[in-house]
Amino acid sequence: MVKKILFLYTGGTIGMKPSETSAGALAPAAGYLPRMLQEMPELQSADTSFELIEYEPLLDSSDMTPAAWVKIATDIEKNYAAYDGFVVLHGTDTLAYTSSALSFFVEGVRKPIVVTGSQLPFGVPRSDARNNIVTAFQVAADMPPELAQVCVVFGSRILRGNRATKISASAYDAFDSPRFPYLGTVGIDINYNSRLPIATPAAELRVQTTPPPNESIAVVRLFPGFSEQIILSLCTNPHLKGIVLEAYGSGNGPSRDIEFLESIRSAREQGVVVVVVAQPMQGKVDFGQYAAGSVLGQAGAINGKDLTTEAALTKLYYLISLGLGPAEIEAEMMRLIVGEMQS
Ligand code: ASP
Repeated sequence: MVKKILFLYTGGTIGMKPSETSAGALAPAAGYLPRMLQEMPELQSADTSFELIEYEPLLDSSDMTPAAWVKIATDIEKNYAAYDGFVVLHGTDTLAYTSSALSFFVEGVRKPIVVTGSQLPFGVPRSDARNNIVTAFQVAADMPPELAQVCVVFGSRILRGNRATKISASAYDAFDSPRFPYLGTVGIDINYNSRLPIATPAAELRVQTTPPPNESIAVVRLFPGFSEQIILSLCTNPHLKGIVLEAYGSGNGPSRDIEFLESIRSAREQGVVVVVVAQPMQGKVDFGQYAAGSVLGQAGAINGKDLTTEAALTKLYYLISLGLGPAEIEAEMMRLIVGEMQS
């Protein structure tokens, strides 16, 4: 049987051209990439066909929003039965946010949902666009069924979508999952690591189609000299429901700063869920390791374990979009939903 792959082309460098309206800077060019894909011999296979939906407008991924994730999720849901796999073509800047978001907003997938993009536009010398498109197409068609999940295919790596993060604005291997093994590697062959299925898959496809309000979450990075006023002023926003707090090392914060700890406590009393993630790319939050970490836990912050910032943020957005209250959100943040963190 001929396999069918659906490309969802959202924008990004991959299909950009120098634009006259922005002094030659790169901008999405409608119609260009779909034409190029039609002409690629690598995609004309007897056993796999493809179709493409081009988004309007095409976005530089810096313009992505939670509502845009929901649009992609909804398009996957509408077309889920008719296709064997999906490739989301996306800008690299917020690609890891979208791949994390899709893992939550499109739960229970039994077909590969591959997110890719490129560092250089299609057609420029030494562009990685062609390779990434072809590999993503092959992964969407051939990924072993037990591994089928939202993933990022980029350069030589296949990564779990909610473990990926952008690590380079210049290397062809622009993404990594420093806290989780690769789902596969791409060389002459595509090799899959079949010991990494999703641990707790939802029984059936479940797509969350209500976009959360943008203003409901903030990401805050601790730094020496951090003032509690930052947390307090964020909490004057009545729509705020969650803060992702990027803490030091294994989840530590300024333990001698009573005002800071009070600000975390008062955020929580106001119904704002505070999730602590670790600033280092490797390792995880462990409140028990230092007194400076345990005080964050005592102040009511949630241990985000080895979640990336992207996964913590998008998981919070997802839980808020479900309409859950603070206590339920806290409980769900500690529960493994779709392979996003250690159990
Ligand atoms: N600014 C571009 C984007 O994220 C960068 C890229 O695609 O590589 O859309």
